[in-house]
Amino acid sequence: MKLFTFKGGVHPSDNKVQTENEAIQIFDAPKMVNIALLQHIGAPLNPMVKPGERVLKGQKIADSQAFMSAPVHSPVSGVVKKIEFLPFPSSGKVNTVIIENDGLEEMAELETIKDWANASKEDLLAMVREKGIVGVGGACFPTHIKLNPPKDMTIDTLVVNGAECEPYLNADNRLMLEDPASIIEGIKIVMHILGIKSAKIGIENNKPDAIASMIKTIEKLEGTDGIEVCALKTQYPQGGEKQLIAAIMGREVPSAALPAKVGVVVQNTATCALVYEGIVNGMPLIEKVVTISGKAIKKPMNLKVRIGTMFRDILDYAEIERESVDKLVSGGPMMGMAQPSEDVPVVKGTSGLLALTTDETNPCKAKNCILCGKCVTVCPMGLEPLMYAKLAKFNQWEEMGTYKLMDCISCGSCSYICPANRPLTEAINIGKAKLRAMPRK
Ligand code: SF4
Ligand code: SF4
Repeated sequence: MKLFTFKGGVHPSDNKVQTENEAIQIFDAPKMVNIALLQHIGAPLNPMVKPGERVLKGQKIADSQAFMSAPVHSPVSGVVKKIEFLPFPSSGKVNTVIIENDGLEEMAELETIKDWANASKEDLLAMVREKGIVGVGGACFPTHIKLNPPKDMTIDTLVVNGAECEPYLNADNRLMLEDPASIIEGIKIVMHILGIKSAKIGIENNKPDAIASMIKTIEKLEGTDGIEVCALKTQYPQGGEKQLIAAIMGREVPSAALPAKVGVVVQNTATCALVYEGIVNGMPLIEKVVTISGKAIKKPMNLKVRIGTMFRDILDYAEIERESVDKLVSGGPMMGMAQPSEDVPVVKGTSGLLALTTDETNPCKAKNCILCGKCVTVCPMGLEPLMYAKLAKFNQWEEMGTYKLMDCISCGSCSYICPANRPLTEAINIGKAKLRAMPRK
């Protein structure tokens, strides 16, 4: 099978073996769930419920009029106890609805569009929004917006991201093995919404069983013409949108442009399955698969958990050895976020929980840059990471912008490869935040 890839990137040890054969387990809904009212890129939500009110499983509990938003739903039936500002995995505090689970699992009435093939694009997009679906590959971009690209851009291909290139993570891999039909049915709905006839599913070749599972499912199901699997070289960050498009389509997305500019929409495999679940079965995004791994975890596993479950409960279940933890990460080790506390809830974008020891984090002191150029060679966006660290040291944020800082996808490849342990990604992320906060000229 031909292997597709992109220019640049690194090859960190993938550490998939700990959980790749662990079937997805269902984690019981906890007694309390904390539903953060910001789980997508965009505006925070306004609560639609009050303390003391009973809610049903799948009931919408917060929404916003803002264009860039997606509602959230209760993952349990129970009673709203409080609404208050609490820590969440993206740092800082956010308004949070705390619900006490009554264990009855009483469902709200769920709307569906079973005959989606005869439904309009507008109705399907409205339903995708109503189900609170966002890109669960990590970015949490509202899916109904991504599936409605600007009218002047003609889309011809859906690229489906099954790369899961972050080390340790196997949530998408297990989904491709255990429920490939939901992913393919979701792809068919997304193709219908976009009005296109071609979808290419990119999967790294360190997941041969997932590749075989998806190919078999495409052959077995009806209406899958135009859907194909593309095996990708195992190379980080193969799952970056622009890298996937370059690898599979041979198209280069221009600086600061969207994939739609080159006729492509990218969706994650798990997001496609959510579209199917939402449209055909009416189920909003209230649970997701998370990989729990790292050397400080005695029982690495893949767990399906309700949104709002606390990290601490999941880590206890996986038998965390707290005395060995050097760093707790939400997501993968390359792009994930270090967590100062376990007392934060799972949100729609939580793909992994890693309890890493010093063996895995390699905490070495930063030395002076030796101008080896390795960070430039591996940068998949063709940037000059060494300049960012230099400029950040002198607070030259605007100057960083002139080096196309905002094209950086924060993949961490430059930091990973740097022999001097320069804090490149850290400087980059601070620089990006400073640039975003500056008044537009
Ligand atoms: S500069 Fe940005 S895109 Fe380039 S390697 Fe570093 S983190 Fe990745
Ligand atoms: S990899 Fe590190 S040491 Fe080499 S040029 Fe880049 S910043 Fe300097």
